[in-house]
Amino acid sequence: MIYFYNTLTRRKEEFKAINEKQVGLYTCGPTCYWYQHIGNLRTYVFEDILKKVLLYFGYNVKHVMNITDVGHLTSDSDTGEDKIEKAAAKEGKTAKEITNYYWKLFRDDFKKLNILEPNIWCKATEHIKEQIEVIERLEKKGFIYRTSDGIYFDTSKLKNYGELARLDKKGLIAGKRVDIGEKKNITDFALWKFSEKPGVRQQEWKSPYGIGFPGWHVECSAMSMKYLGETFDIHTGGLDHIPVHHTNEIAQSEAATGKKFVNYWLHGEFLTFKGEKVSKSKGGLFTISELIEKGFSPLSYRYLLLTTHYRKPLDFSLEALENAENSYKRLKNIVSSLKDDGKVNDSYLHEFEKDISNDLDMPNALAVLWKLVRDENAIGKVKTIKKMDLIFSLNLFEKEKVPSKIIELAEKREKFRKEKNWKDSDKIREEIEKLGFIVKDEKDGFKVERK
Ligand code: AMP
Ligand code: ZN
Repeated sequence: MIYFYNTLTRRKEEFKAINEKQVGLYTCGPTCYWYQHIGNLRTYVFEDILKKVLLYFGYNVKHVMNITDVGHLTSDSDTGEDKIEKAAAKEGKTAKEITNYYWKLFRDDFKKLNILEPNIWCKATEHIKEQIEVIERLEKKGFIYRTSDGIYFDTSKLKNYGELARLDKKGLIAGKRVDIGEKKNITDFALWKFSEKPGVRQQEWKSPYGIGFPGWHVECSAMSMKYLGETFDIHTGGLDHIPVHHTNEIAQSEAATGKKFVNYWLHGEFLTFKGEKVSKSKGGLFTISELIEKGFSPLSYRYLLLTTHYRKPLDFSLEALENAENSYKRLKNIVSSLKDDGKVNDSYLHEFEKDISNDLDMPNALAVLWKLVRDENAIGKVKTIKKMDLIFSLNLFEKEKVPSKIIELAEKREKFRKEKNWKDSDKIREEIEKLGFIVKDEKDGFKVERK
């Protein structure tokens, strides 16, 4: 049995798939207008673990992830500029070039962090017809209205609007101080926005309502229902999606179909920096490439993420990453020297399986791994750890490749040594040690190892 904490009910529940061993999983993807930072990637690693746990227990997972390439405005309240159009103008590129460029970088990050790609990637711009169809269904049922800038969803028409976020509608209205413009209710949201001046935007389409582009939320409803059906098993995202994006996805999907949209909603907590969500103003907005430039292995970041439960905030710092890297390398060193006795250690594996099926308790699962590694009398270490690494995905059995930067330094040092320039050769040795490696001189050259 697997248990997940369901945001919808605020309880840990036993997971039951709609079709026995087949699971439909929708994870909100990136808005491809800029680099994804390590905060975003925390959410994708949590989702990767979720998927791998389902696969581990024999489920077939149909995983769909969207690419937001239109309609996500700089403000979540349907005002401001389109993030993609803004980036395209700034970088002098087409919207398509911008999306494809950042999408490719995103997929590179997936590879570096051993995250499985979804079975289906879907772009908002390639599903305009499906989004218009959702809006038309809502129109037939009387859920929409027109303002001068677009077509809006009337949230007051839906009895349980805001249930996911436990939104206090009365409180919201009482505390209302923001300008809602022509909207009827503060929580109403755009389904279709009109182009201010048709012909100026790079991305706009004809619709029964006028020339324009879809609102951000409707893409996820239209695409998830297209690929996974009108009711499906699991939908995930970061915590910030609960009050607006996911709340509105539920509203428009359930209003359109009259059915329950999703059975289990799982949300990942934030990566923070000095106690606050990583952001441009507060800092901590590293990319994986930047961490690599600083000499870290991307999988050390994955290891760091495993040390905190996905529903707890994780405060990032370079020191914390360094500690994680040290533990990870130590673990890898020990594991790579183990001999396979052909057996599986059922008792440790059972403990591990209990943890991963208990709402993805990876910190405890990691503790079980360390306990096994340190248990001198345990049998079946290699085969058991291989099974565990299906979820951890830390390449525990792969010999570490020494980074090319370190090899270059070692070669430079070798040259100085040949010239008997001991001062410079020692300087480089120290530099290499600072980066976590040691050079060992051998009869016919040198060997570099992790410290
Ligand atoms: P976006 O590209 O802004 O739509 O975000 C992509 C994903 O990253 C979403 O699931 C967000 O909820 C998630 N996310 C954004 N910031 C953070 C953060 N600091 N920590 C964890 N997840 C985040
Ligand atoms: Zn979404």
